[in-house]
Amino acid sequence: MQEKKLLGKRKRIALVAHDHKKIDLLEWAVHNKTSLAKHELIATGTTGRLLEEKLDRPVKKLLSGPLGGDQQIGAMIANGEIDMVFFFWDPMQAQPHDSDVKALLRLCVAWNLPMACDRATADFIMTSPFMHEEYEAALPDYSGYLNRSISDHE
Ligand code: PGA
Repeated sequence: MQEKKLLGKRKRIALVAHDHKKIDLLEWAVHNKTSLAKHELIATGTTGRLLEEKLDRPVKKLLSGPLGGDQQIGAMIANGEIDMVFFFWDPMQAQPHDSDVKALLRLCVAWNLPMACDRATADFIMTSPFMHEEYEAALPDYSGYLNRSISDHE
């Protein structure tokens, strides 16, 4: 049987923006302030500080992204503590923590999390009826992988 993960009405939303995308994310968040007020916000350090100032509400702040914040979000995803991710990454700038960026994008897909990497997708997610309801997300079946046989002779 397909395993499911229940996303509650109050979503646990992770937000991350690279420096050249921070204004974009902040503008978007202010525009969606009322809707975001119904949910819990978690963010990398600098993004979180700016969001707190702009939205005038608490945001759970992790470390700054390049200092481990992206990986902290990744760990929370793996532990089932994040429901969706708004990750405005910069397609025009190399990042010192590129491996962390990749890892975060990969984990969102590995755990079937809704993820927005730009404002248009963020708008579509925020206006989805599922934002105000419980939602059963299908959990990928990794039993084949977990139960694989490991042989010295392979
Ligand atoms: P920051 O990190 O919010 O601390 O700037 C963002 C990132 O992951 O680059």
